[in-house]
Amino acid sequence: MRQTTFAIGLVTIALAFSASALAQSDTAGKKALIVQTTESQAAMTPASAVEKLKKGNARFVEKNMRSRDWLAKVPATAGGQYPFAAILACMDSRTPIEIIFDQGIGDVFGIRIAGNVVNEDVLGSMEYATKVAGSKLLVVLGHTSCGAVKGSIDDAKLGNLTGLLAKIRPAVSASGPGSSKDDAYVTKVAQANVSQAMKEIREKSPTIKAQLDAGTVGLVGAMYDVSTGKVTFLPE
Ligand SMILES: [Zn+2]
Repeated sequence: MRQTTFAIGLVTIALAFSASALAQSDTAGKKALIVQTTESQAAMTPASAVEKLKKGNARFVEKNMRSRDWLAKVPATAGGQYPFAAILACMDSRTPIEIIFDQGIGDVFGIRIAGNVVNEDVLGSMEYATKVAGSKLLVVLGHTSCGAVKGSIDDAKLGNLTGLLAKIRPAVSASGPGSSKDDAYVTKVAQANVSQAMKEIREKSPTIKAQLDAGTVGLVGAMYDVSTGKVTFLPE
């Protein structure tokens, strides 16, 4: 996955061509980047990355999504990737991150696993995204009506799923007693689970913690509402 300087040079040249050729068709009159480049990524900060995601979700809920030439993004990203954020989200079919944040190919890393739980592989993926690939922001995205959260509340047991659901139990304990049939309680646990994941990321990855402490990378939590399409970023 490591990119060479030579490859980056080629991509830059390729982007110079594709950007001029595709600017109009990609954004229907709006001047915007075709794909993330090493320059556009480097110009971003953790705060501007959050802003970009907020604006993308606003376009989604306002039915104002960008018109994209998807296929044009394929050759434009073939030589390398410079995503500005890595998003840990649930595997839930109702939380497709590129759509709900109105992002294109090459814009964000997606790490999706039931209940958006953290494990060593998730941490390794986040370390790659930030330390190697230069992403500025880590997002933990929980959502309403999460089946994994409901399963953990019910202490469900099923093969390998048992161990996964156990990772959500601290959030259940922190939320007090409640029922998986109570939507407000499920949302409360899902939000606690986001906070739990953020805490684990900071505690279990010295690589990420160092970047967070230096301010070069940001870590934010957010909740997606499956009934409205809206993402709410949680207070830090
Ligand atoms: Zn879920």
